[in-house]
Amino acid sequence: MPVTEKKLIQRIRRLAGKNPSLVMGIGDDAAVLRIPAGHEVLVTTDFSLENVHFRREWHCPQLVGWRCLTRGLSDIAAMGGEPRAAFLSLALGRDVPETWVQKFLEGLLALARKHGVALAGGDTAESLSGIQADITVVGSVPKGKAVLRSGARPNQQIYVTGALGGPASALSELMLGQHLGRVGEGHLRPHLRLAVGQWLRRHRLPCAMIDISDGLSTDLEHICQESQVGADLVADAIPRARSGPGKNRVDLRFALHGGDDYELLFTSARKVPATIEGVAVSRIGQTTSRTGMRLIDAHGTARRLDAGGWEHFRQES
Ligand SMILES: [Mg+2]
Repeated sequence: MPVTEKKLIQRIRRLAGKNPSLVMGIGDDAAVLRIPAGHEVLVTTDFSLENVHFRREWHCPQLVGWRCLTRGLSDIAAMGGEPRAAFLSLALGRDVPETWVQKFLEGLLALARKHGVALAGGDTAESLSGIQADITVVGSVPKGKAVLRSGARPNQQIYVTGALGGPASALSELMLGQHLGRVGEGHLRPHLRLAVGQWLRRHRLPCAMIDISDGLSTDLEHICQESQVGADLVADAIPRARSGPGKNRVDLRFALHGGDDYELLFTSARKVPATIEGVAVSRIGQTTSRTGMRLIDAHGTARRLDAGGWEHFRQES
């Protein structure tokens, strides 16, 4: 450990601050959270592992912290929920500089403050191989109103927020040896659609919803499997991020199969506005009673679409 556990916990406690959801935060055996009356509790947990989800040479520590919490908050967004508190378990090797830890916490807590989320506890340990951060986020949603993956029915329209493929395209350039400065670190900073998820839930528009963490094809397949429907996607309708000096649209395969987008994917039986909370929303296809996914090209030809999502950079590394 770069700092003693006691010192690290004291530092996190000082930085964590206060929050109305928190009756008791760091400093007791368990946190005590205040959940609004009539709400149900949402809980999600996500690993951020060095050389699986991030690399120290590509991702600055603030960005690693920011992305770590984004993974958890995005799951709350996908349920239409409101985040209340986060719990961080952090395992560090002896080689991790103290400044890395400080900046990691700064990044994580900047995002927590932005969304009014308390860092309410966690654990620290020594790691024998790489940095391991595990984030748990607790949120809440009005009783019975959580948006599930299983609510889609045939002949609903499929929508996605924002534009896809930016982070996957940037990572692929880094893997090919492109310089980080040229790729632009901004592409590695994920979006987070908490306000859109809550707006959609309040207006009862989505029947099924998921956040795109593993790639459009993989996450759409999760909705299809949980809802027992199929899906037809229109290739030209899929919004692709722009990247590089020419601001060209990224290759379709990054938008289809790349991960780390953290946009929301949902189905609806009703008309959905083109912009929600300042974020563009695109209609990209529809659900079918026939199972399986298909991609329809510009000529109207349909071919089978397999989930080919995010493998992080495990194979290539
Ligand atoms: Mg998710």
